[in-house]
Amino acid sequence: MSKAWRERLADARLSRQQANRWRTRRVMEVSALDFAGNDYLGLAQDPRVSEAQAEGARRYGAGAGASHLVSGHLAVHDALEDALARWTGRERALLFSTGYMANLGVLQALADRHTAIFQDRLNHASLIDGAALSGARSRRFHHCDTSDLKNLLGRSEYAHKLVVSDGVFSMDGDIADIASLVSVSQRHNAWLMIDDAHGVGVLGDNGSGCVGSALSSAEVPILVGTLGKALGTAGAFVAGDAELIDHLIQFSRSYIYTTAQPPAIAAATLKALEIVQGEPEYRAKLNANITYFRHEALGLGLPFSESATPIQPLILGDETRTLRWASQLHHQGIQVGSIRPPTVPKGEARLRITLSARHQQGDIDQLLAALNHCQHQEALCSPCV
Ligand SMILES: *Cc1c(COP(=O)(O)O)cnc(C)c1O
Repeated sequence: MSKAWRERLADARLSRQQANRWRTRRVMEVSALDFAGNDYLGLAQDPRVSEAQAEGARRYGAGAGASHLVSGHLAVHDALEDALARWTGRERALLFSTGYMANLGVLQALADRHTAIFQDRLNHASLIDGAALSGARSRRFHHCDTSDLKNLLGRSEYAHKLVVSDGVFSMDGDIADIASLVSVSQRHNAWLMIDDAHGVGVLGDNGSGCVGSALSSAEVPILVGTLGKALGTAGAFVAGDAELIDHLIQFSRSYIYTTAQPPAIAAATLKALEIVQGEPEYRAKLNANITYFRHEALGLGLPFSESATPIQPLILGDETRTLRWASQLHHQGIQVGSIRPPTVPKGEARLRITLSARHQQGDIDQLLAALNHCQHQEALCSPCV
């Protein structure tokens, strides 16, 4: 490596380390209690889903072998797209290899420098990156603040306006006020895109998310869902009218120029979707876990933010404190997310705790005891924090 490059990397490393923001990967121990992941229904570990994947691999092979537009689009992809469209009450759905790529692909295909994109300040990084890639004029509105959005829309002179929001916010667990986003967008002639990565499988009557079948494509024309979270597999989809899907197939570069999702993953996802739709008891168990956890945690005086979803943030403020709590939990065999800037705003570092239908009450009790221990240790030694 040349000296100039070595210095550049060393500078970046140093400033990140000094801010206590250096990220490390931990090899997840099978025995650890996982309160960090997004497998909200436990389907990533469900033997029926793994078996469908194994069967899919035996039948179709290990990979798709080409992109969807060349020769990688198989009947099982088509069947999954149909099932996702029916589930969300849309005309069509289109599979992408990841949620990150779906968001990049949608924004790049729909927006250009003659478009204005309005995003919630706490939207997922893939939406922010997609807007940048599209070259559109990008504005951010205050988190869940539709009157701020209304002002920005009112002042915009762009003919094409696109409002974009997470459905469930990935680091906070709160849910966007979709009804009010719909009405503001319609009043200002803007299209609305909702990324419901953490809502699909979890929220809504049939698990189809916070938009799903409850709101039509006239209200939410662009719906994105991911398959790697509650559905337990990998990949993502965009659901909407046939016109939208046709446009994406033609113009979405992250759809066109990439190998199709392995067909075995599509087969596994079909099985996961069947379970989500046919066995509401998984959602019931998840919700019972959320209720139990919140009741007990608030009883212990732990300052959890308001959240009715599996994402339960404990905002601790600074990076050092967050790392200290996470490491204490880790020593007790409990894995939680320690989320620091730039993923969240400065001063809002947090533990991101996630619940799953797979957790037993005893698991949750262990987590609560460990959190309570952190809290007490800190109180004992308050001059040193
Ligand atoms: C996780 C996530 C994505 C990215 O999905 P992947 O399939 O993991 O790439 C997109 N949007 C939101 C809101 C997410 O939480």
